[in-house]
Formats: sequence, structure tokens, C-alpha cells
Amino acid sequence: MGNVHELKFLRDKIQQLKDEGVYRKLPVLGGPNEAEIILNGERVINLSSNNYLGFANHPRLKKAAIEAVEKYGAGSGAVRTIVGNMSIHEELEELLAEFKREEAVFIYQSGFNCNAGTIQAITEAGDLIISDELNHASIIDGSRLSKADRKIYKHSDIEDLERVLKENRHKYNNVLIITDGVFSMDGDIARLPEIVELAEKYEAMTYVDDAHGSGVLGESGRGTVDHFGLHGRVDFSIGTLSKAIGVVGGYVAGSKVMYEWLNHRARPVLFSTSLPPAAVGAIMEAIRMLMESTEYTDRLWDNARYFKEKLGALGFNTGNSETPITPVIIGDEAKTMEFSRKLLENGVFVSGIVYPTVPKGTGRVRCMVTAGHTKEQLDKAVDVFKKVGEEMRVL
Ligand SMILES: *Cc1c(COP(=O)(O)O)cnc(C)c1O
Repeated sequence: MGNVHELKFLRDKIQQLKDEGVYRKLPVLGGPNEAEIILNGERVINLSSNNYLGFANHPRLKKAAIEAVEKYGAGSGAVRTIVGNMSIHEELEELLAEFKREEAVFIYQSGFNCNAGTIQAITEAGDLIISDELNHASIIDGSRLSKADRKIYKHSDIEDLERVLKENRHKYNNVLIITDGVFSMDGDIARLPEIVELAEKYEAMTYVDDAHGSGVLGESGRGTVDHFGLHGRVDFSIGTLSKAIGVVGGYVAGSKVMYEWLNHRARPVLFSTSLPPAAVGAIMEAIRMLMESTEYTDRLWDNARYFKEKLGALGFNTGNSETPITPVIIGDEAKTMEFSRKLLENGVFVSGIVYPTVPKGTGRVRCMVTAGHTKEQLDKAVDVFKKVGEEMRVL
């Protein structure tokens, strides 16, 4: 027996990561997150962020953040249920509800927190959660916090979802079907109209996590529910303020009764301090910008189509993406990480994504095109992809 404080079991696991070629250090940014960044001291093209609209370092957001700090301070000072519920928190909820075209919006400190808090608050023992097999980790963790039973259906497989409903609906009180709106690793969109139809047929509720649809899909980024015109038919529509919106935070849009209940029972709101004023001020400015104009989402989609077309023409496998998320599937885990390393050596940062984030053997570099990229930056990135692809015989 060695010394227990050596944490030998962790050292062994870390050695295993090294042996598998998937050990990594965190990349370090030396400035704001933009289309070009200072990464580990070098200037590179950034194709890895969720900053879809280029809002993370936008002058209007920064100004709004500073003004909110001047008026409300650096921190909110408490959880919302005690004395951390500032007037800007409520203003943000009202603005988001108007933007999302829903009755009410309830905000959280992050998208992760939103799933961790909402799912357990709206389900209980005797209920069933039915989840797409590729749903985000925060949905999986959020569901684990619930006392409801859980079943999985095959990814976007409506027949399989119906099978699960048929076999189980009668055994449970409430049933909640949960899906990502946009699947973050492949960029495909949930088959929401069919899911909603099934849910209504079997009297189940629907819960859409639209982290990658917020600010991306629908009119000026109103999300997947808006994209499909399903307002009023999705019970819980989750969005993040950390990705396209460029700041941090999460929310659930839906009915007033949902709002009232979460206000009493959502644990991240009862037990964790509310969003800081700077974040709230910046988020509100971002939402106002989207309500004023579709120029930001238009530019995002224009760039995404341009880049995807060029990679596809070279012969890369970009999977089934229907959104600006552009995976380039390499397959083998170690080869994927090496591909990503070589892109970086050539001035393009695209993170490699491998098991366990995606299934074994489907390693990919995932390109995130944004409204902030210029065509020149995208052309340069495509040239580097071609060079590395040829070198590594991926093409
Ligand atoms: C990123 C993401 C989250 C987490 O959002 P944060 O605001 O970054 O915590 C939740 N769900 C999905 C589907 C995501 O992609």
C-alpha cells in the first residue's frame, strides 16, 4: 500500500490517457475570443468558439456591461430568493420572453445549470423522461438528478421514440420527451414537428435544449421552436446566453405556470447566486441587437454556407450538419488529435473532439464558423485544411 495522498488511482488513469494519445493541456487565450485569437502566444484563426455572432467582444455589449456595473455593481450579492433578484434580472426575463414569443422566461446562471435545475423540478417519482441518445451531458446529468425513470431513444429516430412511448406511456403519470434542438457534435436539427406530434398523441410534454439553436436558427436567432413555427406546443424551451449571445447564462422559455413553479423549486436559483449585473446588461444589449436586425444571423449563415461548400468540394466528410456547426470526420481518436495539432501548427485552431464526447471511431475536428469571420480568414483556413488533409492522407 502506497501513501493514500498520492492519489495513485488518478495517476494511473492519467497515464492511460497519455498511452491512448488523448491527454491534452488546456489552450490559453491571451485576449478576447474573436475570429482571430492569441492562442498560447501565437496569432491564429479561431474555428472553435461558440461565439456564433461575434458578440463576445462586441463594443455594444461591452458598453452595456460597463453601464450595468456602474449602476448595479460587480456582483448581485445573494441568491435570487433572498436579496439577489435585481430589477435587471426581471427586465432580462421580460425581454427574453418577448424575443422568444413565449409567455415567460426563467433565467439561470448557465445553460448547464438550467438543465440541472429544471428537469428535476418538473419531474418526480412515477414520471418518465425519454431522451435522445445524443443529448448533451447537462441533460444526462440533469435527468440523473430527477427521481423519474429514464429511457433512451435512438438518435432522431421517430419510430423508436414511438416504440418507447407505446411500451411505457400507460405505466407513468407524466412523460417528458427531451431533445437537443441542434445536436452540438454533428450540427443536425431535431425532428421537432414529428416529436411534438407524437408527444401530443401520447399526452407527453416536450423539452427542447436549444443551446446551439439560440441566436442561430429561427427569425434573427429565436431558436428551433421558432424555426419550425411550434410556439405554444413545446412546453420547455431551453436556451443558452453563453454561446451565440456571447456572454453567460441559460434560460427556459414557456408558460407563466412554469415560471411560477421554477421560481419556488429550481435549486440553482435557490442555492446559487444570481447572474452578475455585467452579464445581464450585456445579454440585454445582445437581445436588443437581434430584435433590431437580422444582419448578424444573416452573416453567420452566409459564412457557414461558404465554408461548408469549400470543404465539401475538397472531399472532406462534413457529416449531416444543417447548421453552422461543421464537423470534419477523421475517425480514429489519435489521428483526429494529430490532425487538429497540425492545423494549429499551420495557424488554424479547430479543436479535436473524440470519445467519450462522441462515439468511438467517429473522432472529428469541429469547425465553428461565426459571423465574425471574414471571407479571407475562411479561405486561408480552407487552404490549411487542404494542405494538412493531403499530408495526412485524409483526402
Ligand atoms: C453548451 C450546452 C449547454 C451548456 O450551456 P452553458 O451556458 O455553456 O452552460 C447545455 N446544453 C447544450 C445542448 C449545450 O450545447
